Amino acid sequence: MAEFTMELNDEQKEVRDWLHGFAADVIRPAAAEWDEREETPWPVIQEAAKVGIYSLDFYAQQYFDPTGLGIPMAMEELFWGDAGIALSIVGTGLAAVGVLANGTEEQIGTWIPQMYGDANDVKVAAFCSSEPDAGSDVASMRTRAVYDEAKDEWVINGTKTWATNGGIANVHVVVAVVDPELGSKGHASFIIPPNTPGLSQGQKFKKHGIRASHTAEVILDNVRVPGSCLLGGKDKLDERLARAREKARKGGERVKNAAMATFEASRPAVGAMAVGTARAAYEVALEYAQTREQFGRPIIDNQGVAFQLADMRTQIDAARLLVWRASWMAINGKPFTAAEGSMSKLFASETAKKVTAQAIQILGGNGYTREYPVERMHRDAAIYTIFEGTSEIQRLVIARTLSGMPIR
Ligand SMILES: Cc1cc2nc3c(=O)[nH]c(=O)nc-3n(C[C@H](O)[C@H](O)[C@H](O)COP(=O)(O)OP(=O)(O)OC[C@H]3O[C@@H](n4cnc5c(N)ncnc54)[C@H](O)[C@@H]3O)c2cc1C
Repeated sequence: MAEFTMELNDEQKEVRDWLHGFAADVIRPAAAEWDEREETPWPVIQEAAKVGIYSLDFYAQQYFDPTGLGIPMAMEELFWGDAGIALSIVGTGLAAVGVLANGTEEQIGTWIPQMYGDANDVKVAAFCSSEPDAGSDVASMRTRAVYDEAKDEWVINGTKTWATNGGIANVHVVVAVVDPELGSKGHASFIIPPNTPGLSQGQKFKKHGIRASHTAEVILDNVRVPGSCLLGGKDKLDERLARAREKARKGGERVKNAAMATFEASRPAVGAMAVGTARAAYEVALEYAQTREQFGRPIIDNQGVAFQLADMRTQIDAARLLVWRASWMAINGKPFTAAEGSMSKLFASETAKKVTAQAIQILGGNGYTREYPVERMHRDAAIYTIFEGTSEIQRLVIARTLSGMPIR
């Protein structure tokens, strides 16, 4: 087990500086353009692929970093560059993690390379869980997967929504109900291979922020996939369903530890994205406050401005510490007895919203225009309190975990 440390080692510092260089030289200068275009920034993804940032290798290296700091450090730097573009770069990783976590060796080897493509022909992947009537309430999911034993195929029908890269992905990972009696315990994940008939994109959303990231509905109309596309395989699913049925028969379990380990492990990564956006806005505000003069002196000379910056920086550092702690816990298999992963996502995302709003205030009229990046950062920051579980859901998970009560 790696000791918890707040100091990056030399290798991590090198990676951080390299990522920061890419974020500063490639991502940030492209941010305003792709925000206006509201399109996937394919040339930037390709650039990231060429230098090795858009690849499973890079992602896996950070993911398995024994200190736990690889992913949060990478997310912070890329999202410091720009949230919309960075999400276009790391969105595939979110789908890939779904396969890494639940897939067999063969599934990992077959599908993950197809999610990324190669530097000359980059591809993206999508993870589709949310539905129009199943957002926070994942258990009310309706997309159904039925096994056709004669053909060893799964037949999937339903409508997914809010899918990052939905419809433009080469590979879609779709969560569907296999046993409606079991609520969320009756769900399973499926790979939908490239060009599978029956899968189509519904509406593409016009969003408030992270506009360079493609978000759309995904329609599944009698989509047939081979049995081998069930993540983890049929035997494992049957075993899991049998255990869930047995538990349900015995009357279910009282809420003991409501913090689900997989979410606790993935939520700090979203917290780190929020830290990146918050830090970016803070840096712009600090520089502006030092150079903008009113009443014959820099505006930072006023406590009213300087104290805001002091609070902003304090909250960003506190958010990063929560994120790093939870990431360290995840990689070292520590139990999340206080839902520390959810805590880190809650605090970091609320911090990003607050800090980016303060940055607009410090820049005055300029902050309110698209001449300066803070208004975009503020629009972008609003996503962090919504996706991967809203702030209210994080509080619910934390409160349930602390109390052991099924708080509603
Ligand atoms: C840009 C974007 C990208 C996304 N990418 C993906 C993706 O790639 N894949 C995917 O599967 N999903 C994705 N999502 C979906 C996202 O995870 C959901 O939007 C989120 O889980 C919230 O669900 P909802 O939008 O249906 O809101 P709802 O669940 O309808 O919530 C509405 C409001 O009610 C509150 N609320 C709900 N239940 C409770 C409760 N019990 N107690 C207190 N408050 C409650 C919520 O906190 C929220 O404030 C994305 C969403 C967006 C906007």
